[in-house]
Order: sequence, then structure tokens, then C-alpha cells
Amino acid sequence: MTVVAEMTGVKVLFAHDTEVALNAAAALVNTLDGEEEHLPDLAAVEDFMREWGWTGQRPRTEAELDAVRALRPRLREVWVADEERAVTIVNDLLREFKALPQLAKHDEWDYHIHATPHDAPLAARMAVEAAMAFVDVIRNKELGRLRICAYPTCDDVVVDLSKNRSKRFCDDGCGNKAAVAAYRARKAARTSGSTAVDTSRSD
Ligand SMILES: [Zn+2]
Ligand SMILES: [Zn+2]
Repeated sequence: MTVVAEMTGVKVLFAHDTEVALNAAAALVNTLDGEEEHLPDLAAVEDFMREWGWTGQRPRTEAELDAVRALRPRLREVWVADEERAVTIVNDLLREFKALPQLAKHDEWDYHIHATPHDAPLAARMAVEAAMAFVDVIRNKELGRLRICAYPTCDDVVVDLSKNRSKRFCDDGCGNKAAVAAYRARKAARTSGSTAVDTSRSD
């Protein structure tokens, strides 16, 4: 598989569960949108869990909500950290939440890693799943695929899983906004360009 990939020049990225975990971690980080809180209460956490396929124990306490929210800045730091710092964050998370990797197979999923028991607190499961995905990213020297949205006023984190590393914007509409801005800039440049021509003619 690796040999074929090298021969054809096609880079195999991450295992499917790693990619899902990275996207879920990014979505969690992005629930804190500047000053805007998208996890205002336990109901919002349950919606988030449904959306991202989190099963098992449901959060029922404010402490659980606080723990999930508190995880966000720690995960966000991985998106801006250099390799050494990212390693420290990941190792701290794995140690703190007592990760114990085990292969598991259930529902429609083939073997993948569970590193926390099913009854672990939600924040612990989220932390460890994200950390295990970061392990893959760091081992593959792909930390550069974790970046901040390139739109000037957006702080969302982005996971670039594209073959040619071309994903620059988050999925929150920034790609469209940037395209519109670029179009307007080109139009403005054309307009001022033709004005310049007109002026030279009248000279
Ligand atoms: Zn599983
Ligand atoms: Zn954005």
C-alpha cells in the first residue's frame, strides 16, 4: 500500500477514524466563535453530540458542560502550536485523561482505536479522541494541515484533508466571502484601469 502510494505519488492521508476525529475536534473548537458561545447549555452539547456521532453517556451536569467548554482552548492551541509544543499538549491530554488504547469493532465500524472506556466522562472521551488523532498527524509530519481560516476576520480552525493542501478557509462561508471580495477587487481594478486609459486618451 505504502509502496504503491509512493510509486503513484498519491499520498495516503490518515485512517478514516482519525479524519473524523480531527473534524469533530475542529467543530468543537469552533463552537467558541470569538465572543459567540455555541455551547450555551447542556441541550446544545447534546445537539453537538448527535451531530458528530458521540454516543454513550450523555452530559447531565453543569460540570460536564464546563469540562467540555474548557477543553476547547487546549485543543485550539494545537492548531497554532509548533511541533514540540503540540507534542506536549497531546502527551498532557493522554496522561491526564488516562488514555488506554484498545482496538474495537462495533456497529458499521471496522477495527479502530478506543482509548477511553465507554463510561468515561464526555470531556475525557473528546480529549482523548482528539489527542489520538493528533498523534497520527504529528507522526505523519502533517501538523501543517491544521491551520486557522485565512479569512481576515475569522478565527475558526481548519483541518486540511485535501490532496494538494489547498483548503484555506473554514466551512462557515469564508471561502465564498473571500471569492466575492476577490471578484470585487478585480472589478475595481478593471474600472480604475479603464479610467486611466480614458485619461491618457484625453491628454
Ligand atoms: Zn468506536
Ligand atoms: Zn472562516
